[in-house]
Amino acid sequence: MATQNPSATTDRPEISDLPDRTEAALMEVMSVLDDIGLARGAPDLYLVVSSSGATYLVDTLEETCECPDDEHREVTCKHRRRVAFVTGERPIPGWVKRRKLDDGFGEHVDSEVRFSATDGGVAQARFDDGELTDPEDDPFAVHSDDEDRTKRAKREDMDISFLEKPGRYEVHSASGSVYEADVLAESCSCPDIAERCKHLRRVDIEIRDGLVPRPDGRLPDAN
Ligand SMILES: [Zn+2]
Ligand SMILES: [Zn+2]
Repeated sequence: MATQNPSATTDRPEISDLPDRTEAALMEVMSVLDDIGLARGAPDLYLVVSSSGATYLVDTLEETCECPDDEHREVTCKHRRRVAFVTGERPIPGWVKRRKLDDGFGEHVDSEVRFSATDGGVAQARFDDGELTDPEDDPFAVHSDDEDRTKRAKREDMDISFLEKPGRYEVHSASGSVYEADVLAESCSCPDIAERCKHLRRVDIEIRDGLVPRPDGRLPDAN
C-alpha cells in the first residue's frame, strides 16, 4: 500500500474523489505481468494478480477482463484500468499524489507510465528499481516541452566523472566517445556547436542531483 501522509489534504482534489475503480486501479496492491503464462508472447494480453491472489487475464484489444466485475457489469474494471495506467495508454491525472500509488506500480512491465502535466502536456515518468519517481522531483524526467538536446541529455546513457576543479568533467557517451566538459567555461570538446551541448546539460543535471561533485570539487553533501 502507498504510504499515507496525514498532511496530504491539499488544494488539489484528493484521490478519493476519483471514481472507485480508478482509485482502486491506482492504489490497490496488484501486479501486472505482461509476458508470462497465458500472456506470454501476446502483446495485448496481461495477467493481473490482485491482492487476494486471484489472477485475471486482461485483453486490451478485446477490452475484456476475466473478473466478475468486468464480465457481469457494464464497466471497465480496476484491472483493465490498472493495465491502461501501467502501460501508459492512459496518463495518470497529474494531481494524483505519486506516493499514494501502489508501491509496486509498474513493476514487471516494460512500463512507460505517463502523468498528465498540470499544463496539459504529458510527462514521462521513470522507475528506479520498480519505484516510481515523481517527475516533478526527478531531474531525469523528460518533459514534452524540453528542448531536443535536453531530452537527449536526460535519456542517453552517459557516464560522468569529475576531472579537476574548477568545473571540469569527463563524459563517456553511449557511443564510446569521451569528451571533456567545462561547466564554468560552458565549453565541451564534442563536435556539437550548439550553445550548450547535451553533455554540458547532463553534467548540470548530475551536479544538481548530487550524482557528481560540484564544480569546486566538493562532494554533494559537503557545504
Ligand atoms: Zn477485472
Ligand atoms: Zn558536448
